[in-house]
Amino acid sequence: MSTSIVWPLVSNVIRGHSVNNTFGMVRKHANGGMKPHQGWDLEASVGDPVYSISDGQVVFVRDRGDYGVQLCVSFPFNGATYYAFYAHLQRVYVEEKASVERNTLIAASGKTGNASSLPSSEDHLHFEIRTKESPRLGLQDRVSPIVIYGKCPLTVPIAG
Ligand SMILES: [Zn+2]
Repeated sequence: MSTSIVWPLVSNVIRGHSVNNTFGMVRKHANGGMKPHQGWDLEASVGDPVYSISDGQVVFVRDRGDYGVQLCVSFPFNGATYYAFYAHLQRVYVEEKASVERNTLIAASGKTGNASSLPSSEDHLHFEIRTKESPRLGLQDRVSPIVIYGKCPLTVPIAG
């Protein structure tokens, strides 16, 4: 893990400690096959503070579709530009084109978009690492956040 990257929440653990909430072809499809999950779901209550994981720049803030209120922050990593993408937010505290520093309070976690009907026990931050700012659905143009962090907090929370 680069020392310039931090975690998005005060306490970071995969929702329900379930591999179904990690990155990859991890979700059961109604047809019996598997379907993709594009990022990590990290347990977070509505209103929990969300922090920028790196020094970077706000690429977009929007409210649309299944992701609900979304925030995308570009940042340099290993000589390339990556994008931290946060979804289902309650509100966003920064504006497009703003420069942010790592650990800047950028948003409050929420349950917008298709998270709105979840019971409160399943509230979470949907968090992706992208290689393009606005990829289509699926796994393309994204990487597992494990590429950035070197580990996945599947069972034991990691302090941010
Ligand atoms: Zn998710």
